[in-house]
Amino acid sequence: MGYLHLSITELHELLKKGEVTPLDLVKEAIDKMKADNNNAFEYIMEKEALEQASLLTKCEEDNPLWGIPFGIKDNYSTKDVPTCGSSDILKGYVPIFSSEVYQRLINKHAIPVAKTTLDELAMGGSGTTGHLGKTYNPWDKSHKHQVGGSSCGSAAMVSAGIVPFSIGSDTGDSVRKPASYNALVGFKPSWGRISRFGLFPFATSLDHVAYFTRNVEDSAILLNVLAGRDDKDSSSSFKEVEDYTLNLNKDVKGKKLAVIKEIVDSIDNKDIINAFNSSVEKLRASGVIIDYVHMDLSLLKAIYPAYIVISCAEATSNNANLDGIKFGQREDGDTYQEVIMKTRTNGFSELIRRRFIIGSYSLLKENQNELFLRAQKARRLIVNATNDILKEYDGIYCPASPSVAPLFVGSSDKLSNEYLIADNYLAIGNFAGLPSITIPLGFSEKLPFGVNLTCKAFEESNTFNLASKIEEVIGIKNIIAKEGE
Ligand code: GLN
Repeated sequence: MGYLHLSITELHELLKKGEVTPLDLVKEAIDKMKADNNNAFEYIMEKEALEQASLLTKCEEDNPLWGIPFGIKDNYSTKDVPTCGSSDILKGYVPIFSSEVYQRLINKHAIPVAKTTLDELAMGGSGTTGHLGKTYNPWDKSHKHQVGGSSCGSAAMVSAGIVPFSIGSDTGDSVRKPASYNALVGFKPSWGRISRFGLFPFATSLDHVAYFTRNVEDSAILLNVLAGRDDKDSSSSFKEVEDYTLNLNKDVKGKKLAVIKEIVDSIDNKDIINAFNSSVEKLRASGVIIDYVHMDLSLLKAIYPAYIVISCAEATSNNANLDGIKFGQREDGDTYQEVIMKTRTNGFSELIRRRFIIGSYSLLKENQNELFLRAQKARRLIVNATNDILKEYDGIYCPASPSVAPLFVGSSDKLSNEYLIADNYLAIGNFAGLPSITIPLGFSEKLPFGVNLTCKAFEESNTFNLASKIEEVIGIKNIIAKEGE
């Protein structure tokens, strides 16, 4: 079995005692990655990781990340390590600089072992649209169910027990939704809390650095390292960084959570509803005040269309640099226009081309009022309604997804309220830039599902404390996908 099913804190104890070395851990991760059949990797950093691990000989006792292997989504620039965003258009691209997140982890002597697969350029939620094809859910050995996306490889890697944490990105729900499908903790902080320098921009006003762990404490440990101002990202916050592990005391008496009734009511899966209700009862018994509140149905139904218009518009503009002229793949042509047209036509999959068409259409001068600006107004109303709830409550508490991981074919009814509301509401956290965490909640037909807590901006410390109580009352943590299930 090895060691990598253990949490960051458990591994740190073993490293401190010298019972295991970083080199042992990296070798185990490499063996597991080579044996893995979930298609989770764009690039296995075998040589680089072994080299780095062999340099680590003296454990830094107060540094919990020392010698810990991790994976990072392939939309983060990693100096001298191929990075393509799971897109053909960047095949062969090797960045000349590193993203801030990656660099901070390396500075702490955590060891990157893989660049992980994603839905192409982080657009998507199924883990099927990257240029290497489908990534599979480790909970389903028959490979019929999605792992979720867009941070599919990062989720699969942690859930398969290959590393204790991995970095993803979350523009609509791309870490918090796959966390739900994989019994993982998936966290994104407030917008601006973690530098996005070197993260390929998808939709800048919505993009967040986010990550997977197998318990809440590990998630807080990571924020301690990742949070903080970075002058290379002008959108990063100057707000003081706290020690996010200090408040994990589970003292939650009198804290107030709001359940949005319309979200819960749109969910059909009985196992999810039962597990959710039982968690509400247990939290109440622990002294948390939980009320069911209302949010205007038309606002909830507007989340998805507003998200699509805004994110596609921003993506169209952000990805205009992928033209074959400056870097990445280039097709031949007689004029530069022809080079760009051919490169972009062949380099992007159909899904990406469709999103750029939606984006360009909503940004056209004659459509802007009706589409882009209207979506922005809807976003503002949704954010206001959310913040109104958060004036009275510490957090919003709802199931993270209306189902377990969907099948690859024929599973989503895109016209249902379940899909429109409960499958897409997590984007509220991106619209409003709020800290938001998914925690394992239960199982339905042997597949996991999670619950989500979204709190006030920059209240990460409160978020983790409430989350650790939620984790305690539910009682599911530190698990990996089980053989044969
Ligand atoms: N599933 C959403 C989309 O399709 C979210 C993607 C993300 O968060 N990167 O865009």
